[in-house]
Amino acid sequence: MPRWEQWRDARGVAATAGRFSSGVRVGMIGEQTVASLKASMPPVRGRLLADHSLAEFTWFRVGGPAQILFLPEDEADLALFLANLPDDVPVTVIGLGSNLIVRDGGVPGVVIRLGRGFSEIVVEPGNRIRAGAAVPDVKVSRAAQEAAIAGLAFFRGIPGAIGGALRMNGGAYGRETKDALVEARGIDRKGQMHVFTNHEMLFSYRHCGVPEDIIFTQAVFQGSPGHADVISAEMDQITQSRESTQPIKSRTGGSTFKNPPGQKAWQLIDAAGCRGLRIGNAQVSEMHCNFLINLGGASASDIETLGETVRSRVREHSGVLLEWEIKRIGCQNSNR
Ligand SMILES: Cc1cc2nc3c(=O)[nH]c(=O)nc-3n(C[C@H](O)[C@H](O)[C@H](O)COP(=O)(O)OP(=O)(O)OC[C@H]3O[C@@H](n4cnc5c(N)ncnc54)[C@H](O)[C@@H]3O)c2cc1C
Repeated sequence: MPRWEQWRDARGVAATAGRFSSGVRVGMIGEQTVASLKASMPPVRGRLLADHSLAEFTWFRVGGPAQILFLPEDEADLALFLANLPDDVPVTVIGLGSNLIVRDGGVPGVVIRLGRGFSEIVVEPGNRIRAGAAVPDVKVSRAAQEAAIAGLAFFRGIPGAIGGALRMNGGAYGRETKDALVEARGIDRKGQMHVFTNHEMLFSYRHCGVPEDIIFTQAVFQGSPGHADVISAEMDQITQSRESTQPIKSRTGGSTFKNPPGQKAWQLIDAAGCRGLRIGNAQVSEMHCNFLINLGGASASDIETLGETVRSRVREHSGVLLEWEIKRIGCQNSNR
C-alpha cells in the first residue's frame, strides 16, 4: 500500500474516531500524519500543520480544515517540499481566499499558502513592477501609483493576492491581469521552476490555461508613465464605486458566476427572482445579486447549495446555465 494510502487510512480512522471521541485524539492522529510526512523528506524550513482550519483564510469564513497545511518560507523551500512529496499526495494552493468556498469536510492532502517569503514588491526600470505571489493586489496598485506608473490601478478593487490574480485572470473596470502581465514564475508538482510569458499563460475571461499544478510564485507587470495624482484619483474612484455597488464589508466570495457571453450574470439572477434568496444563513446579496453572503453561521454547504439553487432557477427562467467563477475545494463531509 503506498504511504499516502496509509496516511489516508489513518485519517479515515481519525475522522471516525473524531465523531465519537475527543478532538485531542483526532489532533494526535493528524500530527502523526505530519510526522510521517516529515520523516519521508529532507527538512523543510516552512511550517507543517495538521488539521488546520481554513475558514479563517477565506472571505466567506466557512469550511473545514486542511489535512496538512504547509506554509513555505520561500521559493527554494516550496520547490524542495514539492520535489520530495510523494506523487499521490494531492496538493491545493490557496491565496487570500476571496474567490473560494472551502467545503465543510475539509481538504485532503496538502494545502499550501504562501506568506512572507513571497511578499516582496519591487519597482523596476521601464515602468515595471515585480511582485511576489502573496502580495495583495491592492499593494501592487499602490506601489505603481507612488512610482507614477499608470495601468495598474484596476488592482485596487480586487481583494486577492497576485497568485490568485494570475490563476483567475482577475480584472475590473475594463482591464485584466492579462493586459499588464509580462511574465509569471511558478513551480510545478515535481518542484521544477517555470517562467511563463504572457502568451504562454493562455489567459481568457477569469481563466488561465497554465496546468493546474503550477503554483505561481512571482509576476512582473508592465505599466506606462503616468502622474501620481491622476492615478490616485482613479483609485479613489474605484474605491467609491466598489463601496456603493458591492457588499465588500460582508463575508462573501465576490462574483459567484461568470458573465455568460453578451450577458450579465446579475441580471439573469435578478430576472429569475433570486435577489435576497436565503438558505440557512447564506443569502443572495440584496445589493449585488451575483454575490452570495454568509450572514453569520452559514456552512459551506448552505452557500454552495444556495449557488446551485440560483443556477437551476436561472436555467429554468432563461435557459442559461451559469458557470461558477468561485472555486470550490475539498469534500462535502468529514470523511475526506
Ligand atoms: C468583495 C470582492 C470583490 C471582488 N471583485 C473582483 C473583481 O472586481 N474582479 C475579479 O477578477 N475578482 C474579484 N473578486 C474575486 C477575487 O478577489 C479574485 O478572483 C482574486 O484574484 C482571487 O485571489 P485570491 O488570492 O483571493 O485567491 P483564492 O481565492 O485564494 O484562490 C482563487 C484561485 O486561485 C488559485 N491560486 C491562489 N493562489 C495561487 C498561486 N500562488 N498559484 C496558483 N494558483 C493560485 C487557487 O487555487 C484558486 O483556484 C472579488 C472578491 C470579493 C470578495
